[in-house]
Amino acid sequence: MKIAAIEAIPYSIPYRHPLHFASGSVHEADHVLVRVHTDDGVVGTADTPPRPYTYGETQKSIVAVMQDVFAPQLVGLDVFDREKIQAVMARTIHNQTAKGAVDIAVWDVIGKTLGQPVTKLLGGYTDSLRVSHMLGFKPAKELLALALEFRETYGINTFKLKTGRRPLNLDIEAAKVLREGLGEDAELYMDANRGWTANEAAEVLRRTADLGLQFLEEPDDAREVLGRRRLVTNSPIPIAADESAANLGEAAREILTGGANLLSIKTARSGFTEAAKIVGMAEGMGIDVYIGNQIDTQVGTVASVVFGAAFAHTAKRAAELSNYLDMTDDLLAQPLAITGGRIHVPEGPGAGTDVDEDKLAHYRTD
Ligand SMILES: [Mg+2]
Repeated sequence: MKIAAIEAIPYSIPYRHPLHFASGSVHEADHVLVRVHTDDGVVGTADTPPRPYTYGETQKSIVAVMQDVFAPQLVGLDVFDREKIQAVMARTIHNQTAKGAVDIAVWDVIGKTLGQPVTKLLGGYTDSLRVSHMLGFKPAKELLALALEFRETYGINTFKLKTGRRPLNLDIEAAKVLREGLGEDAELYMDANRGWTANEAAEVLRRTADLGLQFLEEPDDAREVLGRRRLVTNSPIPIAADESAANLGEAAREILTGGANLLSIKTARSGFTEAAKIVGMAEGMGIDVYIGNQIDTQVGTVASVVFGAAFAHTAKRAAELSNYLDMTDDLLAQPLAITGGRIHVPEGPGAGTDVDEDKLAHYRTD
């Protein structure tokens, strides 16, 4: 069964509230929907979030690389030859989320063709994931009110606090207010998106030592190697790599050079095929992982759920799956629900990424 065509459809859905963080901000989901068509008429779907501040991709660049580079090389390949598809895309450097979307759409086709849920084809470990909610920059009291609302409404009790601000007191105060207001049982961790220096991060770790934080993600620029290594060696909690470990090679490098001792896995940038390799490597080295959020729509989020529930190693920790709640609408045909703090994997063949055609027609911008 061969790839007959690849569609890259730009669309835009406004956010209810913009999300602000140290490396950027998001006001609308100006994403690209990718569809892989086969010569048998099966269609696989995946979402592509442009994140110029992390991967250098824009909505236009994703559409262009898909139409001008990937589609001409991939049309005619057998959809089951996943490693060949990976190798063809690897001839072009970067374009991380464009490649990830092609891979997920291909898996969706494979699942539909075999009549099996993709989560089972990948591993089938469990049927749901615990949800962690991301809190962007806001005054401490507003953050607490928001966290309490999410706990009340969705049963979520794990929160990622976006940090990396100066003065450091802003984030330290926010962490204290959250811990006091949410109590001992809540799981809290920070993501500084490289906003601090290694020394500033060390100071934050000292001054939040009694708050029971789980880990600190991307505190500083990992390319400043010695500072990062010193931080990882001396930190009482794990230091996680996210944007510094965007692919298999970078993940291996950061772990082996002491740049991180925890990994964020994002299917938006790794697809399922490369993400599975990163998870296997991490498991073998005794490195924990968690499912991260690329500020995904529901179409992106369902892919994270399908992947994260497939493996014991990814299902251990709470997964970042709730950013879509900040959007005014979504394309996913079968909307996700968070109940009791969990999201369940979709039933039926494929990756669960099918979209509502009327909504796509409404929000597409091409
Ligand atoms: Mg991050």
